[in-house]
Amino acid sequence: MNMDTPQGGRQSEIYLDHAATSFPKPKSVVAEVTRAVAELASPGRGQSRRAMWAEAMVREARDRAARFFAVPEPSRLVFTKSATESLNMALKGFLKKGHRVLTSSMEHNAVARPLARLAEERAVEIIRVPCFADGSLNLDALRRALDPPPALAVFVHASNVNGALVATPKVLSLCREAGVPVVLDAAQTAGLLPISVVDHDLGMLACSGHKGLLGPSGIGVLYIRSDLQVEPLIEGGTGSHSEQWVQPREMPEAMESGTPNIPGIAGLQAGLECVSAMGLETLQRHELGLADDVAQRLQGIKGVQVYRPSVRGGNAVSFTVEGMAPHDVAAILAEAGIAVRAGLHCAPWAHETLGTYPTGTVRVSPGWCTTREDLDAFTEIVDAMLTRRRRRHLGRA
Ligand code: PMP
Repeated sequence: MNMDTPQGGRQSEIYLDHAATSFPKPKSVVAEVTRAVAELASPGRGQSRRAMWAEAMVREARDRAARFFAVPEPSRLVFTKSATESLNMALKGFLKKGHRVLTSSMEHNAVARPLARLAEERAVEIIRVPCFADGSLNLDALRRALDPPPALAVFVHASNVNGALVATPKVLSLCREAGVPVVLDAAQTAGLLPISVVDHDLGMLACSGHKGLLGPSGIGVLYIRSDLQVEPLIEGGTGSHSEQWVQPREMPEAMESGTPNIPGIAGLQAGLECVSAMGLETLQRHELGLADDVAQRLQGIKGVQVYRPSVRGGNAVSFTVEGMAPHDVAAILAEAGIAVRAGLHCAPWAHETLGTYPTGTVRVSPGWCTTREDLDAFTEIVDAMLTRRRRRHLGRA
């Protein structure tokens, strides 16, 4: 991809862990974060010029983010600290005692753990729709689970373990036909797949700013459809309606208590600008193309098993190496200057589904600035690692 990076060229480490966070960030993102720290005060909390600039920046960023996800009314889009916080707000703010909630067997702990707490504390009934071993959702099981309709459904858009597209258009349309609002966990797809809250008819949308949206960490987004009643997770100063003793109900203040993350919002806005400038279609073709390519190359190496999805929606590629623990494979790659991730990737349910629980997999995930040469270097090392092992075995035999 042809966007400036802060270091202005190749990194000494080949970074292939974009499913965790994108790195490096575009130069403009770093500049905007720095500028916000240096120049902006607290929005809505004072008449200083710096407070007003901050307020204008937040308004612009909200408008931009709303346009990006085709949110009809920007006030329905709130800034959070992460996808995790957005998902907690969505689930804990909406689900009430005795509600039934539908989810999939490919979810991240950012969904699984809040649901587990709600099951314990509010007797929320969790219906976990099974996915097949490639990560795709079993549509027959989904149809059965939608009758009678649960109060809510929450699905990961694409898996952070193997990139499988879980919330396909068919999954979303079945929920829509049953009148069930869907919370979409777009942590892995925001900035990669086009997402329109209107076209997808989403009840809520949650994502982080630091992955595909190329922003800094500590900033996330939550969209809430206007007909859904979601109680705030935290309450406090909103810089508005200060005469009221109780939390205002107006959006977005109702869900945004406390001084906002101004550098994070400024950085997210710059990240969104970069994504729009590069174009979602280009990013999607680039990242998913590289992910498919690396999956295919790995599959061709004897002793490597790849957990490929039938429909790819994210850039994560998971694999295991015969006779080697995933962490050992990742350590050898790290020594060679290649950053990947090993283990369960905070998604034990997904590993149960793929048959890789409890040891997990090695995950390699290309990003916006990954090149084919990066992947050449990566696959050469995996290949060499296995060749060495085979030689050692032969030597012993
Ligand atoms: N859902 C999925 C599918 C994810 O991959 C992640 C991040 N690994 C999250 C939720 C949580 O995102 P964050 O850590 O930015 O809150």
